[in-house]
Amino acid sequence: MTLNIAHLYPDLLNLYGDRGNIAALSLRAQWRGIEANVTEYTLESEIDFENTDIIFVGGGSDREQKLVCGRLLEMKDKIIDFAENGGCIVAVCGGYQLLGKYYKLGDETIEGLGLLDIVTERGEGRLIGNVVIKTDFLERHVVGFENHGGRTEINGCTPLGKVMYGKGNNGTDKTEGVIYKNVIATYLHGPLLPKNPHLCDYIIKKSLYNKYGDIELKKLDDTAEIAANDYIVHRFC
Ligand code: GLN
Repeated sequence: MTLNIAHLYPDLLNLYGDRGNIAALSLRAQWRGIEANVTEYTLESEIDFENTDIIFVGGGSDREQKLVCGRLLEMKDKIIDFAENGGCIVAVCGGYQLLGKYYKLGDETIEGLGLLDIVTERGEGRLIGNVVIKTDFLERHVVGFENHGGRTEINGCTPLGKVMYGKGNNGTDKTEGVIYKNVIATYLHGPLLPKNPHLCDYIIKKSLYNKYGDIELKKLDDTAEIAANDYIVHRFC
């Protein structure tokens, strides 16, 4: 089995160790004998959608998001097709915002892909700190760290989780992120996947489904990861 991971723009979007998410995805696949190939894309390169199982887009500053958004818009139809056909996309913070309709910063508006029916507007001050969320598809809580100026309204979309601690999408409605088909979009850095091996495995399983059907992932020894995850949950909740 082979897992092909496309890392979009690590030279521009790589805040708070987003690269650790790629390491977690590929190592947890390799530890089970699954070959993992990571392709790092730059703005100049063409994405090989046909041979991609997971697209990862990390977080970035407003400036970097502006640099990336024009390129993403050129590929809008292909990215939307990929997601609608069950392709897996993991988008963190700045990457998450770009999957929505727009990110408004004062007088300026960054147009997003419109894959998700969400909108983001920069608010007063930043939402910073640890976050604990409860999803309805994982037994264990998901923990992470957020730092964003944008406030996201998810309208009718399904949140990734309910905020148990922290601010989440907008600091008011207790929602965090969005889950849509195999798209996982979230404000959680950390990096997210080393801190949440259960979520990482969920994504690996979903992304291999199109090629190999419903596979059983071999259990790994996650004693240390689970102890770290539990520690954060109990510290804040
Ligand atoms: N620039 C965006 C914001 O501040 C995203 C930041 C990030 O990716 N951490 O809302």
